[in-house]
Amino acid sequence: MPIYAPVTSKFSAMSRVVLVTGANRGIGAAIAQAFASQGDVVIAGHRSAERPSGMPSELKNVQIDVKDSTSVDAAFDLIEKEWGTVEVLVANAGITKDNLMLRMSNEDFRDVVSTNLEGAFYCAKRASKGMLKLKKGRIIFIGSVVGSIGSAGQVNYAATKAGLVGMARSIARELGSRSITANVIAPGFVETEMTGDLTSDRRAEILNAVALNRFASVDEIGGVAVFLASPAAAYITGAIIPVDGGLGMGH
Ligand code: NDP
Repeated sequence: MPIYAPVTSKFSAMSRVVLVTGANRGIGAAIAQAFASQGDVVIAGHRSAERPSGMPSELKNVQIDVKDSTSVDAAFDLIEKEWGTVEVLVANAGITKDNLMLRMSNEDFRDVVSTNLEGAFYCAKRASKGMLKLKKGRIIFIGSVVGSIGSAGQVNYAATKAGLVGMARSIARELGSRSITANVIAPGFVETEMTGDLTSDRRAEILNAVALNRFASVDEIGGVAVFLASPAAAYITGAIIPVDGGLGMGH
């Protein structure tokens, strides 16, 4: 084994089965495309009954509501029957229901936990069954910088994103001996519908705190997901990878 192996050997074309949840738009769609462009068999999860119009033809699709464990199990059963065992899971689906804590309803707290945290758990649990048989796998959770630094008005959302870190680290310890890694990507602010309704004042305030002075493009999250699932990242597990333009400065 040469000390300096050619870099190309670590990024050669893949043909793994990759599932991305919430892949009909935003960050999930970009992640799905990033994997597809390097030759993986990518299944884009969507909530709607029909295949979303405009979804690129190179993507396979499956209906999946992550809040519902029956829907998650059914989606995995279908994927295994049609395309094979999921080797890479990107648990991306997420929602916000923002309000200051004293005004936040218990229902809005539970809803966000149910999608962002329970949904990720259902997917990771079901995916790990197949990964254990494969004796390899990559689980990638889409967290957020606010899971580490907090965010006024997002007690529910920040709690779920912090929760994903504990989840990933526990999975990393449980399944590491089977060559399964679990990591969290923690984006800062990304140009998607989720950030589309920020007021211009709030946007300016955020940009002031971001060292790179801009929001991320969705492709900048996609590239990091592809890296975390690549052979080059085989020894990274239980990690938070910040992709936040310096907002959290490594947190
Ligand atoms: P969008 O609101 O643009 O997209 C969210 C996606 O999640 C949609 O595809 C949506 O489906 C899907 N989704 C929501 N609930 C469910 C559910 N119960 N089951 C299945 N899919 C569901 O958000 P982004 O693309 O911006 O965010 C993607 C992820 O990145 C989220 O986890 C978010 O928290 C995280 N993130 C985003 C940041 C940002 O600045 N945008 C920053 C940090 C993290 P549908 O179209 O049916 O609603």
